[in-house]
Amino acid sequence: MPATSLDQVVSLCKRRGFIFPGSEIYGGLANTWDYGPLGVELKNRVKREWWNHFIHKQTDMVGLDASILMNPKVWEASGHVGSFADLISSCKHCKKMVREDHWPELVENSHWFQSLAKLYRNEEVSLLDLKAWGEKDAKTLAPNLAIVRNPSVTISWLAEFLENASKATKDSNEDILILSSMKELIKYLATEQLATTGLLMPCPYCGGELTPPKPFNLMFKTQQGVIEGEGTDIYLRPETAQGIFVNFLNVSQSMRMRLPFGIGQIGKAFRNEVTPGNFTFRTREFEQMEIEYFFDPEREDWKKLYEQWKARSMEFIQDVLGISKENLRLRDHEPDELAHYAKGTTDIEYNFPFGWGELCAAVAYRSDYDLKQHEKFSGQSLQYTDPDDAQRKITPHVMEPSFGSDRVTLAVLIDAYTEEELENGDVRTVMKFDKRLSPIDIAILPLSKKEHLVAKAKEVHEMLLEHTNLVTDFDVTGSIGKRYRRQDEIGTPLCITVDFGTIGEDSEQGDPDTVTIRDRDTLEQKRVKISDLRAEIAEYWKN
Ligand code: ATP
Repeated sequence: MPATSLDQVVSLCKRRGFIFPGSEIYGGLANTWDYGPLGVELKNRVKREWWNHFIHKQTDMVGLDASILMNPKVWEASGHVGSFADLISSCKHCKKMVREDHWPELVENSHWFQSLAKLYRNEEVSLLDLKAWGEKDAKTLAPNLAIVRNPSVTISWLAEFLENASKATKDSNEDILILSSMKELIKYLATEQLATTGLLMPCPYCGGELTPPKPFNLMFKTQQGVIEGEGTDIYLRPETAQGIFVNFLNVSQSMRMRLPFGIGQIGKAFRNEVTPGNFTFRTREFEQMEIEYFFDPEREDWKKLYEQWKARSMEFIQDVLGISKENLRLRDHEPDELAHYAKGTTDIEYNFPFGWGELCAAVAYRSDYDLKQHEKFSGQSLQYTDPDDAQRKITPHVMEPSFGSDRVTLAVLIDAYTEEELENGDVRTVMKFDKRLSPIDIAILPLSKKEHLVAKAKEVHEMLLEHTNLVTDFDVTGSIGKRYRRQDEIGTPLCITVDFGTIGEDSEQGDPDTVTIRDRDTLEQKRVKISDLRAEIAEYWKN
């Protein structure tokens, strides 16, 4: 079966009630998404597993739920007011904004670049071919490229450049292929007058001229106060982490925590991203699951802690959420990617349908930077007193594992999506979620709509509702085959079918008071006594 495409997942999510486009009846709002009935169950389970794994199962961890709105000084201290910015260019023609570090990827994925790449694959590409491309194919794909707007001028100076270049290298080869790479070539095709402008980076959307990049702050600003225009400027938090730092003393004192210990929280964060996209991968409103793990750098070996957190984060993604190993890799940040106070960051990347991308930061070592900054800006001491030596006060260092619950849920959806060819040649789509994550645990399906059969199925349903914490679905509509298919598509691990055998009317289907349990993955069907059902189900979820 071919690899899963993002479109397949987006379409299943809409069709089956996982994720809908935001504000759809008003024509939508770009890059906003709403979790439907099954999506909210799935995402809640991802969050529940995170909380269990990191907070409940670790005795040195506690939870927190801080406000989204914080004193604006918090963001001065954290550096977000001054430097939480991306370098942004805007297109002088189509007005779209482009994040400088996303430019290569955006260009590579554009239709016009791909069309040019096709042409360039031909070894015989000449200036005339390029001119023809500018006059024909590129006209609709990248109408604002210089070679489209002004083909003769662009080609003639390109010819001049090539001539000079070949003279300089004493090489008589005037072929366009001497230009070192496609990215270099497109800059020539975007530029009319090299002497005055220098080479231009074309707009990935229309080929037009981009302005020089300028910093653009990513925080959403709003006002707190009743009279418009007279309130205080405040921000929607761009990360949950600062809520943890400002509560460091409250938590450590009220809970009598001893170092090393960690605080975790789950909550919304907002970033005015310039290039959101790829479904829920990058949105402006999203949810984070973050941990700050505080330690005394004189008593703990940071390298050991770093490795431990890396392993624990990977364990969560791989073993708890069941994301396949071959779609995951660790990536250490290069020294030039690190903030000046950070000693290391390792991401976990997932092989998304659009390429490898950051799934989460498995761990970042942020030193004592944040607590020190908050001391400076708040004027309050945030030092920790050694309980065994009251003279010894320290500012703890931190390890920070940081996950996005939407992005992790997206990876869970993509990883679970499977198309399987059955023995009879049919293809079934099945979401192979880990059984702890499936939005519905069990579906109860009466074989027919006959009243007394449905009544019996309802009895079974009531019994499960009363005696278990399972999330159930009761479905009577459509043929049993269609209902199984629907449950497969939403990833329900077990279906219970109540048939005429159950009600003592057809011994071939089964004995009275027995039902069929169907396993989503193995497709095995097993006949079980209703009185044994709870034990049978408990056994299934035990492993
Ligand atoms: P990027 O470089 O992709 O912008 P980042 O390195 O700034 O991301 P972090 O600040 O490390 O991201 O955020 C931690 C996690 O929060 C990310 O790994 C991701 O899972 C999630 N996240 C960050 N930004 C977004 C977003 N705009 N939409 C959805 N999830 C996000």
